[in-house]
Amino acid sequence: MAIGCTNRRRWTSEMASDASNEEVESVEEVLLDQGVLQETPDGTDFELTDRADAAVRGELDAIDDLDDALDRARPWLGVDPDLIRFERDGDAVTLYFKERNIGAYPSEAAILADVAIAAVLLDWVDGWEEFETRRRGEIVSGVRLFLDVCPACDEAVTFDSKTVESCCGTYDVAALVCRNCGARLYESGPIEASE
Ligand SMILES: [Zn+2]
Repeated sequence: MAIGCTNRRRWTSEMASDASNEEVESVEEVLLDQGVLQETPDGTDFELTDRADAAVRGELDAIDDLDDALDRARPWLGVDPDLIRFERDGDAVTLYFKERNIGAYPSEAAILADVAIAAVLLDWVDGWEEFETRRRGEIVSGVRLFLDVCPACDEAVTFDSKTVESCCGTYDVAALVCRNCGARLYESGPIEASE
């Protein structure tokens, strides 16, 4: 069994929207090119640039609550926030527009994070509005993976990955969780185990 791995870089490389389209840059290429992510000093992982970290925190400070967040999300959701409803299942929150699922989040804090991140990317990334909605979502999640501070309580978060076995094989999964309030900020889908 693999021990927990704290390297987040591998997970951004798994966020590929359309592998058949070679013109689509990978999520990590977009984020490195636009100065959102940089390599860590030891070159083994990525981290948010100081500038990106400050910009996301600034946006987070301005968001009051989930309703306010949805209102602010209007430009990138492309729908009237009054028509969005959300359902909670434990901590998880799923957003619906009419009956269509438009986003599933491990926590309310994850939504707040995405709204803050999307506001920054709209400002920073060339051609942001031309990316497909799904693609924008992947890039936003790519940034959320590198948050160091919880959007709900401002305390430190922990990234951890582990290997799980199922009937059909061995997979790696990863999660980003607040050490203080327990908010789950990121949960990966299972990817094929690296070992
Ligand atoms: Zn927290």
